Amino acid sequence: MEKILISRCLAGFCCRYDGGSNPVSEIRELYERGLAVAACPEQLGGLPTPRVPSERLGGRVISREGRDVTGEFIAGAEAALKIALENGCRTAILKARSPSCGKGCIYNGSFTGTLTAGNGVTAELLLQNGISVLTEEDYLNQVQTEST
Ligand code: SF4
Repeated sequence: MEKILISRCLAGFCCRYDGGSNPVSEIRELYERGLAVAACPEQLGGLPTPRVPSERLGGRVISREGRDVTGEFIAGAEAALKIALENGCRTAILKARSPSCGKGCIYNGSFTGTLTAGNGVTAELLLQNGISVLTEEDYLNQVQTEST
């Protein structure tokens, strides 16, 4: 059965950089009903939880302490893509604005909360491989539209 790939933090798992999560009940329900497979690219890439936050800066990903974590982010994106392909996912619902999972709009590398146009490393790789990516905000808007 085709499943949807979701950001693990959206299902309520505590994988966020600060040890927290971003639970969205409608998305957790997809996971609990077996309709979604959950992945956290930053954990899959070998980064610890909690971890120092990172942001994309040009072609690199840099932690707030100045460490280049591009390799970990790419490894995590490749692992998430592998999970998506193994589960026949054609759609992903990923956490908005994350340097891994964000789509269309991400933090700009200044660690000031400033946004810029762009995709997270994982969202970008999924899109390059023909997988549709929605943020949780897109998904909730879609659910709302369908119910009216
Ligand atoms: Fe959530 Fe993605 Fe960040 Fe993992 S990498 S905590 S799944 S936004």
